[in-house]
Amino acid sequence: MRNFKGYLVILVSMLMLFLGGCKLQEVSSVDKSIEGSNIEGKLKIHYIDVGQADAILIEQEGNNMLIDAGNNDDKEVLLSYLKNNGIKRLEYVIGTHPHEDHIGSLDAVIEEFEIGKVLMPKVTHTTKTFKDVVTQTKKKGLKFTTPKIGEVFELGEGKFTVLAPNSTEYKDMNDYSIVIRFEYKQRSFLFTGDAEAHSEEEIIHTGLELRSDVLKAGHHGSSSSSSIEFLKKVKPKYAIISCGKDNDYGHPHKEIIERFNKQGIKMLRTDELGTIVCLSDGESIEFVSKSGVINERDNNSSNEEENDEDEETQRITIEKIDKVKELVYIKNNGNRKVNLKGYRLLSVKGNQEFIFPEVAIEPGEIISISSGDEKGDIEWGKKNMWSNSAEDPGKLFNSDGELISEF
Ligand SMILES: [Zn+2]
Repeated sequence: MRNFKGYLVILVSMLMLFLGGCKLQEVSSVDKSIEGSNIEGKLKIHYIDVGQADAILIEQEGNNMLIDAGNNDDKEVLLSYLKNNGIKRLEYVIGTHPHEDHIGSLDAVIEEFEIGKVLMPKVTHTTKTFKDVVTQTKKKGLKFTTPKIGEVFELGEGKFTVLAPNSTEYKDMNDYSIVIRFEYKQRSFLFTGDAEAHSEEEIIHTGLELRSDVLKAGHHGSSSSSSIEFLKKVKPKYAIISCGKDNDYGHPHKEIIERFNKQGIKMLRTDELGTIVCLSDGESIEFVSKSGVINERDNNSSNEEENDEDEETQRITIEKIDKVKELVYIKNNGNRKVNLKGYRLLSVKGNQEFIFPEVAIEPGEIISISSGDEKGDIEWGKKNMWSNSAEDPGKLFNSDGELISEF
């Protein structure tokens, strides 16, 4: 009889756990993973799974901030996640831009918690969602703070610098996104909202420090963000993609996945992992999800490491252009064999382009591309591509479309 009672207790407890619902279970399992982490997470960044939307909680030993607040429908999930993490006050809440998938539940957050500052870009939107945020902010006796470029805000022992928006007028609402770079001791994190390539270019021109260990990929991994030039400046080791399972937009886009893979950037996706929490003691970084620790303890800053692939492509150069014989010489100055497939050679004056077929070039090897009567290693297929005046430079682009050599 005692055994039977024992089984019953277990059965009822299991049932109650089950009834607790998936989301709550997820919260508690992420908590377990945090407990099981190998490092002391004095900084915790929660990339909360809110489906096709963004919501990021940053905790630095009792000082908290929130970047975006998911869709309107994410209210319950988001509020319970914050409460379960003991959040009572948020020093800053940032609504990166007025789209629903970023400010949907921001009104509820502002209503529910003590709030220091509400950071929003200087742009309005006609939606009810936006109006709700305005109303709730006023109700709390607060005003929107429009952050300035280069402005620094402190959060406990951490701080963040504002990188965007750099203009007051954009065609695309996404480019109004507030972009910040958060630093904690040796570690840095970039939060981009839905900023697209246009804003990324402006960010590069600010001259502010962009290098970051972890990048929250812009616009849910859309190909309209995460431009090659931007990634080259940020040099992240990890990219977080906040997107919904089988979303209508096809996020993250294939090109972006390929681009990240090619640059050796490790992707962590909320549609695959659920909520992702990054823990750091200021030196090491560890990521956890409900299934436990994701990465090995990582002590290396992205700032100290060079991207091998990147360096390699820099070593493919135009050695010489013989405009009379119509021969271009390409040299591999590196110490690794490189496949030139997809590389492009441009004759600038006539805007004629040669796309390389599958061809390997050994270290130290020089190969020629012929567009004249003389035979080359590879034939352009067309004749007289080069103007004999001095005004026709040649440009070489790698398969990512980056300019790597000019002659
Ligand atoms: Zn979005």
